[in-house]
Amino acid sequence: MRAELVAVGTELLLGQIVDTHSAFLSRELSELGIDVYFHTSVGDNRERLREVVRQAVSRSDLVIFTGGLGPTEDDLTKETVAEVLGVPLVEHPPSVAVLERMFSDRGLSVPASNYKQALMFEGGTVFANPNGTAPGAAVTVRGTTCVLLPGPPTELYPMYRAEVRPFLMSIRPSEEVVVSKVLRFYGIGESHLMERIDERIRNQDNPTLAPLAKEGEVTLRLTAKAADRKRALDMIEPVKKAILRSVGRYVYGEDEKTLEKAVVRALVRRGKTMALAESCTGGGLARMVTSVPGSSAAFSGGIVCYTHAVKEHQLGVPSNILKSRGAVSMEAAKALAEGASHRIGADYGIGVTGVAGPDPAEGKPVGLVYVGLAERGRPTRVHRLFLSGSREKIQIRAAKHALFILLE
Ligand code: ATP
Ligand code: MG
Repeated sequence: MRAELVAVGTELLLGQIVDTHSAFLSRELSELGIDVYFHTSVGDNRERLREVVRQAVSRSDLVIFTGGLGPTEDDLTKETVAEVLGVPLVEHPPSVAVLERMFSDRGLSVPASNYKQALMFEGGTVFANPNGTAPGAAVTVRGTTCVLLPGPPTELYPMYRAEVRPFLMSIRPSEEVVVSKVLRFYGIGESHLMERIDERIRNQDNPTLAPLAKEGEVTLRLTAKAADRKRALDMIEPVKKAILRSVGRYVYGEDEKTLEKAVVRALVRRGKTMALAESCTGGGLARMVTSVPGSSAAFSGGIVCYTHAVKEHQLGVPSNILKSRGAVSMEAAKALAEGASHRIGADYGIGVTGVAGPDPAEGKPVGLVYVGLAERGRPTRVHRLFLSGSREKIQIRAAKHALFILLE
């Protein structure tokens, strides 16, 4: 089944809003085993919309439109689709009743313009909209199904889940399912990762491999199509094994397991706790760790130590280190990590100090970050990182690196 998506709205073309509906619907359709071949954005303009509808229905089995179902003059989607398909719009009494109730509940009468929202495709399907005045609609003509959904996300999402998804499941030709598995990597870039995966595996089409790089992490999505979920998983398994053989040392988790979840789980399993001394991450690391439910079993606490005074008095970093080597130094990171472990009281202490930018500090370049890891009964280790990106990116990458070394 070939599908395409048409997002209607001049705001999309002006760059005032981003077409997140098409991203959402594409993900949903792929889950249902429906292939999406095109995304089109078009303004609220009858001529151009007509052109887009004509082309879409001529080449696709399913076309999903979003937006332009409102009551105003520039809301044209339904009228234009009806015109191109040659299907009359007829009054849909249940939708009229809903409209009248919605307005009378607020002590109002229905504005004349809203009545057009209760005009529906003759012989089509109507999707109720409990959150707004525009019902959704579907109609099938000459083998092509057109589905029309309202633009506001608070209307589209609930309608999709309640009625549109079941409708799509009923019209898709096969029972084929699409199953994905996500492998999560740290410490390897997207291109290096792909280079190290065997070419035959990289280029196969079932399962497909899709890498995605984000904030220092890389994920690899393995997607298989099969008659049922078990068969799809059976197809993914050997490919996953082959990938793990070549780049498994960079994998820290699968599916929804984020770095912070992996760390909390690992510490709980080891029966260990951690404490933080954060300078350049400003508490961001603590925020990430505590976002994980159950983190209290693994996280003792942290100090955001921005000034020399706090580093010295709260965490015991010797003042001569701060004076001679600076706060952004191997020695300071080591002392911060040890201070966190001893003074806050935890099996592991992490110290993060660096230059997040945008300006250099202590004569040191933006992106230079030291992460110390102190562990009871073992020598303290310090990693020196050269991170790139904006201040926010550097902070996130520094925090992620700290989490990653806790997993090693
Ligand atoms: P309304 O009754 O509000 O006019 P509508 O069905 O005519 O509803 P639009 O006017 O096209 O929908 O869009 C309403 C709002 O929905 C937009 O201002 C925008 O915030 C959001 N929206 C519309 N289309 C998209 C899209 N493709 N992606 C993300 N948001 C969208
Ligand atoms: Mg509108």
